[in-house]
This record gives sequence, C-alpha cells and structure tokens, in this order.
Amino acid sequence: MKPDNWISAFTTGNQPLVIAGPCSAESHAQLLTVATSLKEQGIGLMRAGVWKPRTRPNTFEGNGREALDWIADVKNQTGIAVATEVASTQHVEQALHAGVDVLWLGARTTVNPFLVQELADALKSVDTIVLVKNPINPDLSLWIGALERLHHAGIKKLGAIHRGFSSLQNSVFRNQPLWQLPLELKIRYPQLPLIADPSHIAGNRHMIFDVSQKALDLGYDGLMIETHPDPDNALSDAQQQITPLALKELLANLRIAERSSDNIIFLNQLEHLRERIDQMDQELINTLASRMKLVEKIGDYKKENNVTVFQLERWNEIMKTRPEWGQHAHLAADFIKELYRVIHDESIRIQTEIMNQSETRHDAP
Ligand code: PEP
Ligand code: MN
Repeated sequence: MKPDNWISAFTTGNQPLVIAGPCSAESHAQLLTVATSLKEQGIGLMRAGVWKPRTRPNTFEGNGREALDWIADVKNQTGIAVATEVASTQHVEQALHAGVDVLWLGARTTVNPFLVQELADALKSVDTIVLVKNPINPDLSLWIGALERLHHAGIKKLGAIHRGFSSLQNSVFRNQPLWQLPLELKIRYPQLPLIADPSHIAGNRHMIFDVSQKALDLGYDGLMIETHPDPDNALSDAQQQITPLALKELLANLRIAERSSDNIIFLNQLEHLRERIDQMDQELINTLASRMKLVEKIGDYKKENNVTVFQLERWNEIMKTRPEWGQHAHLAADFIKELYRVIHDESIRIQTEIMNQSETRHDAP
C-alpha cells in the first residue's frame, strides 16, 4: 500500500492535521457557527456526521440529505472543507454530489468486508480522500483489509483514524486506546497518515487533552476532535464534545514535538544512548537464551519423571514474585506480568515439544 501525502494541503510546518466539528450536523446555524470559528483558528477541515450509526433505534440518526444542503452552503460561505461518514453506496453518491471533500468509514463499517468492498467499488476512480476508522474490535487485519480494499479500488489519498476499541473490561475510556495496534499500523505503513480521535477514545471532554497529547507524542499525524457550539445540548455524544473556544485552548496547550532534530549534540547523545540500549538488548537476549536452556532441562526432567508440563503452583509463584521483584526495581507490575506471560508461554511451548518427541533427548546439557 503506497498512499499519497494529502495531509500537507491542510497543515503548515510540523503542525498536526486538525479535523474538528460536531458529531452530527444538527442545523445550518450550528454548522455555520462552528465553521466560522474553525476558519478563524486556521482550521480548514470540519467534520460533521450526516448519517449517524446509533446503537439503538429511535434515537437521532442524523439529518441525512437536508444536512448535505447545509454543508454545501456552509462550504460556499466559509470556504471550509468538510468530512463526513459514509456507510452505504447511496451515502457515497449523495456526499460526493454535495461536494463533501473527505469521506470516512466508521468503526461499524470497517468490521464488515462485504460492505467495505461495496464502498470501495462505489469509490472506484473517484479522486477523493478516504479515512478508515479502526474496527470496533481490536483486529488489526480488518483495519488493514479495509484500507487495502480502498487502495485496490484506486483510492490513493488514504488515512487511518484511531478511535479506540470496544471492550468488556471496565475502563476510564469509552473505547480502549490499545496504542500498540495503531502503532503497529504505523510501523507497517509509515506513509499512511494516522489520525487520533480522542473524542471517541475518551468519551468525556476531560480526557481529550491527555489522549491528544499522547497521540502527538507517539508521532500521530493528526487529531479529529468533536466540537459543538453547545455541547451539553448536542443530539449525539454530548459528554465528549467541546466548544470551539475550548478547542482553541486545547490546541494551544498541546506540546508539538519535532519529528527529528539536526542538532549535532542531540544526535550524538541519542546515538550514544542507543548504542547502550543495543548492548543491553544483546545481554537480555543472551540471558533469555540461557533461561530457555534451563527450561529444556526441566522439560527433559519432567518427561523422565512423567510429570505434566504446566504446574499451577509454579505459575502462581512466578506471577506473584516477579511483579514484586519488578516493583523493587521500579518496574510497573503490569509490564512484568505481561512479560512473564509471554516468557512462560514460550517455556510451555518448548517443554511441550520435548514431551512430544518420541525419544528422550540426550543432547541436553
Ligand atoms: C463518529 O465519528 O461520530 C462516529 C460515529 O464514530 P465511530 O465510527 O468511531 O463510532
Ligand atoms: Mn460522535
């Protein structure tokens, strides 16, 4: 996948792309108020939901065609570009007909490859910007698959929106960020613009700043932030929308780090620290290899004595002591638990392999 760089048309210098605007287009006046304020702030791309995918029926599902007329008029009056969600081929046709500049696939669409393919077909040979939100479930392949379907249909101006993932776990977030997933996407497709949607990740206006800052610290290319003139009375996602003024303050307070630096002292110091990290990683790997050699020995021993590979008490002991040791060394308990889960899985895999070998190995040290 080789997407084009379309972002520079909406940004200056190292500033992140900002897409702001209401969750839903509620009225002509609402859109005009937001668009005017965004333009004053130098923001050239407004979001506005025309068709809203609501969890339950009989709630506000967007203003549809009428909203497209408002959008066309507000675009005319202010010169702002507009982004909206499309979830059917009719949406695509109507949105393009109304002059919508950027389309996005919502989280509930990305999960459905049939639907994504239909949308990709409807967009064939259309030179427009299409953004793909992550699927509701934490499945990177589905996200990539949707982007690929669009890319195969000839859409080159692509982008990914990270809006977080549904989870049964109690969490402070409306949608769990699971940062490692979008970062994996960035590693695989460095040219693909990655945009965070802190509004849908946070689900409340108080955490939007922190989520936005984290995204920028991780090198995201942009932010999509729900902005409404009267958030408390919004027809959808009232808790997470902020006023255009609050947006202005939020953006002013964000720390925007340089992607890199050509300062010689900085570069030398960075190289020096990286060399030390390289050395430590080699030591870590050698230590892991020695540990796994011991694991093989234990595997042989268990086999000779006809004892099961998995020993619950030992597992419980490891999961109790290692995080404690970690804490003494100022390492987060969750990190150590996660690490030992992976190490223990590998130990079990190695020992199971030994158990299943027809002969007892004689090459163990
Ligand atoms: C939205 O952007 O308002 C929306 C419905 O988002 P998502 O698809 O991320 O739920
Ligand atoms: Mn919303």
